[in-house]
Amino acid sequence: MIDALPEKGVPAEQILAELHRLRGADLPTHGGRLFAYVYDPALDGLDDLAQAAHATSAHVNGLDPTAFPSLLAMENALVAAAAKLLGGDERTVGSVTSGGTESLILAVKAARDAHPSIRAPRLLIPSTAHAAFAKAAHYLRVELDVVPVKGWRADPQAMAAAVTPETVLIAASAPSYAHGVVDPIPEIAAIAAAHDIRFHVDACFGGWILPYLRRLDAARPAFDLSVPGVTSISVDLHKYAYAPKGVSILLHASEELRRPQYFAYADWPGYTMINPVISSTRSGGPIAAAVATLRSIGDTGYLDLARKTRDAVTVLASAVSRTDGVRLFAPAETSVVCLASDGVDLFVLADELAARGWHTQPQMAYADFPPTLHLTVTAAVHDTAASFGPDLADAVAAATARGPIELPPLPPLTPETVTPDLIASLADGVGLTGGDFTEMATVNTILNAAPPALREALLTGFLSFLQRPAEPPRQGNGETR
Ligand SMILES: *Cc1c(COP(=O)(O)O)cnc(C)c1O
Repeated sequence: MIDALPEKGVPAEQILAELHRLRGADLPTHGGRLFAYVYDPALDGLDDLAQAAHATSAHVNGLDPTAFPSLLAMENALVAAAAKLLGGDERTVGSVTSGGTESLILAVKAARDAHPSIRAPRLLIPSTAHAAFAKAAHYLRVELDVVPVKGWRADPQAMAAAVTPETVLIAASAPSYAHGVVDPIPEIAAIAAAHDIRFHVDACFGGWILPYLRRLDAARPAFDLSVPGVTSISVDLHKYAYAPKGVSILLHASEELRRPQYFAYADWPGYTMINPVISSTRSGGPIAAAVATLRSIGDTGYLDLARKTRDAVTVLASAVSRTDGVRLFAPAETSVVCLASDGVDLFVLADELAARGWHTQPQMAYADFPPTLHLTVTAAVHDTAASFGPDLADAVAAATARGPIELPPLPPLTPETVTPDLIASLADGVGLTGGDFTEMATVNTILNAAPPALREALLTGFLSFLQRPAEPPRQGNGETR
């Protein structure tokens, strides 16, 4: 347990030693064996550079760019680089945000506030669009219209049929996070343009690798601001630009389109608040680190990283295709390998892979989608990919020998019956109270069997169970302390 407020300050050396010890429990951020959450280019010295750059600007405040012109210059430079990479022109403007979710919330906000006369605005997305759109709709009280996909790709005809007079924004992915598949952007853009509706391309995940994959393979269709009808696009620099966490870019095709994104407020006795993004005070650290990362890697560096990633994807995908018991769920056309079961219990397989040092991301069954394992592939995997195939075959054999998970008898559960006490006893029953999350097959099987609303309730309850001060403050009764 960490005492974050010791009576007396603690020496720096000791503090850092404690932090490093804590970090030892985490999944490995480097080394090309963790296929979610982290993006590793495996470039010597890049971490040190990014950290040094972060330190130059950690205390700079993005609240007011006139007070800190360094930040304004860096943000404009990042937006310019993204615009150049993503088909922008001299009219393109943008904002630096803290991440993909913030970029998407702001794209939805700008679209909503561009139509103050529409009382019940609607957002139209394919079912494979990122969950952050649902979050945006929830936060902003925008109605969400979710259109089923064809296979794994958005279905332009079905989306056209779902347009309403209240639709303020249509969105699609390039590529989707879950399956790494690029939606038919030009077709959807044409529909949006015909209805004079804004169209956002969510390239949060792959926006910094897809342009390079297109340079390597000219047959890939355009997906960016160069496509007529695309009015905004987002790209996370903390994904395939390999910057440290906390930076995404939201580009708009024109300043007029961006205008309703801003929040301004002068009706109070303090400073007039003008915010392009959700945060007001925000650190310059991640922005400086992103500038340093982009300048260090450079355009040819990113092309090289894209080539390595593509080659790693090819190796992993063919290992999956060759292995009995699993199959590729979707074409591995960008930087994701998504595998489904062809006999093996996927959740047991995920544990067996983890035991062999490969950390994949289980995705639960949803609508017509079976459960899958997601692998985000980054350049670092280039050096480890060859050893994945043998370990996968081994893990499938072990999972087959173990057989599928047999669930313990569970009480009939509904979202309403999920109480803190029930979560505590469930967590105890499946061995999650010790802080060891390596054997997850039982938990994943329970979640997979639960309908989405119950899944949400169980995981919310569990996270809330975890997210408490280590030692609950004791109620003082005046006698014992
Ligand atoms: C990661 C991702 C997001 C959300 O980004 P965060 O940085 O996690 O907030 C949105 N869309 C796609 C396609 C993503 O991959």
